[in-house]
Amino acid sequence: MWEDIDSEDSFEPLTDALIGHEWAAGLLQSSIDSQKLSHAYVFSGPAGIGKSYLAHHFVMALCCETPPPRVEGQLGFRFCRTCRACRMIREDKFPDVTVVGLDWQARMEGSTGSSGANANLKIDTIRAIQLEISRAPSEAPWRVFIVEDAATMQPAAANAFLKTLEEPPARAIIILISDSDRALLPTIISRCQVFELRSVPTAAVEAALLERGAEPQPARTLAALSVGRPGFALRAFYDKTHQDVNDRDEAVMHLEDLLKSDRAARLAFSEELNSRWMSQGERRASVLTMLNLWLGWWRDLLLVYNGQARYATNQDKLDTLQTQVDRLQLSQIKEMLQWLTRAQSELDSNVSPRLALGDLFINHLPRL
Ligand SMILES: [Zn+2]
Repeated sequence: MWEDIDSEDSFEPLTDALIGHEWAAGLLQSSIDSQKLSHAYVFSGPAGIGKSYLAHHFVMALCCETPPPRVEGQLGFRFCRTCRACRMIREDKFPDVTVVGLDWQARMEGSTGSSGANANLKIDTIRAIQLEISRAPSEAPWRVFIVEDAATMQPAAANAFLKTLEEPPARAIIILISDSDRALLPTIISRCQVFELRSVPTAAVEAALLERGAEPQPARTLAALSVGRPGFALRAFYDKTHQDVNDRDEAVMHLEDLLKSDRAARLAFSEELNSRWMSQGERRASVLTMLNLWLGWWRDLLLVYNGQARYATNQDKLDTLQTQVDRLQLSQIKEMLQWLTRAQSELDSNVSPRLALGDLFINHLPRL
């Protein structure tokens, strides 16, 4: 799924650096200082903007045993990084802080032997959270749950979750992480304090890359391409092949060609993908990567169609997205998302791309 592409936590510990969002850090720290905390927060914004980073820094500031003293005029979180709580949160081992999400759900289901698609946080997962959250904290003043992928809750799960938000346990704090706050139920939003994270200034992203040893020219390019999403820039920087950017460009180029091409060219491309698939190894993996990127692209088309372009992942390609949206109908975008998801699960179960994608290209991909 496209979540894999957007993952924010694979290149640097979430507690290492917060890039930008000083206003949010300042507000949250002052709510800790004045003991005016909410029971529930929503941190929303595009993938790679820093929502999970903000959540982890907030939690360290909440739980730190020896926070440095307040300095007049200095914004941002205060935590020591060295006390037991700080160290254990950094290692994701602190008993009073639990991070749940689709990965967590998949692990839980794996251990109980059940299966099924993991595109949504399910009601069983919400119940498991509710059971856990009713326990009093064992070390820190707070029992904290960071709920990644919160927008994937379907109505039944969201309504179950609402009960916890309506009557939260006294020492509980819940942080919902969401790519789009509009995807959450209004009844949930209304019970949370919402922090909508905006693009980080390009100069701040560039400075963060330079601090990490990037050369000036690539730092400038990646910062521009990240369009204010430090997570994207860092990920691309740590991946020395710049594979992310190259793969994305290639996938978009092929898609643009396909949208314009006739039946014969589409058949030829599904043959090309089939031969990549048959050759195994990296060439085979490139087919799955492309399908993932297309899914992300069509999800962006849906966001742009709905006037939510600021949540799109391909921020540097908004012009191309808009041009395509102008020529597409909503039903076509939704159908393509369904067909691509279906093709992906067929490839997962080892159906050849010729079969999985041939039909998609010939019968379902619109001609622009
Ligand atoms: Zn500490």
